Amino acid sequence: MNCRLCGSTNLASVVDLGATPPCELFLSAEAVDAPEMTYPLHLRLCVDCLLAQLPPLITPEETFTEYAYFSSFSDSWVRHAKDFVDAQVARTDPKFVVEVASNDGYLLQHVVGHGIRCLGVEPSVNVGEAAREKGVPTLTAFLSPETGQAVRDEHGPADLVVANNVYAHIPDVVGFTQGLRALVADDGWVSIEVQHLLTLIELNQYDTIYHEHFQYYTVASAKRALASGGLSLVDVELVPTHGGSIRLLAQPTENAGEPTQRVLDVLAREKAAGLHELAGYTEFAERVAKVRRDLLRFLVDAAEQGRTVVGYGAPGKGNTLLNHCGIRSDLLRYTVDRNPYKHGRFTPGTRIPILPPEQIAADKPDYVLVLPWNLRAELTAQLSYVGEWGGKLVFPIPHLEIVEAKS
Ligand SMILES: [Zn+2]
Repeated sequence: MNCRLCGSTNLASVVDLGATPPCELFLSAEAVDAPEMTYPLHLRLCVDCLLAQLPPLITPEETFTEYAYFSSFSDSWVRHAKDFVDAQVARTDPKFVVEVASNDGYLLQHVVGHGIRCLGVEPSVNVGEAAREKGVPTLTAFLSPETGQAVRDEHGPADLVVANNVYAHIPDVVGFTQGLRALVADDGWVSIEVQHLLTLIELNQYDTIYHEHFQYYTVASAKRALASGGLSLVDVELVPTHGGSIRLLAQPTENAGEPTQRVLDVLAREKAAGLHELAGYTEFAERVAKVRRDLLRFLVDAAEQGRTVVGYGAPGKGNTLLNHCGIRSDLLRYTVDRNPYKHGRFTPGTRIPILPPEQIAADKPDYVLVLPWNLRAELTAQLSYVGEWGGKLVFPIPHLEIVEAKS
C-alpha cells in the first residue's frame, strides 16, 4: 500500500475497526435476506507525510450515484450554511461562486438568495435533482482537473470555490485539488471544510472513520495536500461541525500571501498534541476499545434488567459504531431518523430497523442512544420530551454518558 499523497510505503497502523459494509448503504426490506459485502476498516498513517488514510476500497462512483444523505434534513446544518455564506459574501464580494459536492443545494440556495451567480457540482443524481428543484443550478459530475477546466471554460473562473465536507471523500486527493485550482480565479479563494484529525483523536470520534472518508487531516497534512494541486493555505478557522472541523482558506500559490497567525497557532496545537509525529497516534486504538467496552456493558446490563433502549438517528457514523461494537436489535430495538428515505430500511451490517421519529413517543423507551452525538445540543432540546416518562439520553462518544432528558 502506497501513501496517496507522497507515494511512501511507510504506513503505520492507527486503529483497525474490523470489516464493515459501506456505512451509507441502508438495506431495503428485500435486501435483508441477501448477502452483504464487508470491507476492512483499518486506518493507517503515512509516517513520511503524516496523512491518515484508508485504502480506496469503495469508489465514490459506487457510493454517490444514489446518495442517502440530504443535508437539508438537519436544522443546524442549514443554519451553519447560511452563516457561512453571509460571512463569505461580506468578506470576498464574489460575482461567481462554485460549490463542489453541493448536495441538495442547502448552501448555494443562500448564494442564490444574495442574487449572486452560482453553480453546484454534485455527483449524486438524486440529490442534484433536489437542488435544481429549489432553483440552484447544478451540474452532475465528479470534480477532476478536466471537469474543473470544462466549468471554467463554460462559466468563467470562480471568485470563490467552496468544498465543504468533501475533501475527505475523494481518493484522488491530488487530482481533486488540481480540479479546485482549475475552477478558481487566479486571485480567487478556495474554502474547504473538513473534519479535524486533532479533535477526532482527542475526543475519541472514531465512528467518523468510514470507508467513504479516505483521508483525515491535520492542518499540517492538509497544507501538503493543497500544495499538491497548486494551492497555498492562507488562513484557517476552527469550526464546530462534525464534532470539530477546520475551514481552510487557500489561494493559488502564485498569489497567496504568508499564512496567518491562526494557521501558526493551530499547527502549534497539533504539534503539542504529538500529531506531527507517529507518537501522537499510538494510544488511540486502546481508547477506541474502551468506548466499545463501556457501551456494550451498558447495553448488556440494560437488556438484562429488562430496560428498553432505542436509537436516535441513523447517520453513517452510527454504522461504524454499531458494527464495530457488534450491536444488533436484541440490544438496540430500532433507531429513528428524520430522513424519510431511511424509513423502512435497515442499518447496514447490523440490520437494525429504521423508523420515523414519532415511534419514540409512542413506545416511551427507558433509554435513547443518540448516534449523531455531534448534534448534541440540538438533539438534547429536540428530545426533551423523553423526560416526560423518565427516559434518559445516552451519548456514546467521547465516552459513555447517560443524562436526564429535561422536559
Ligand atoms: Zn505520505
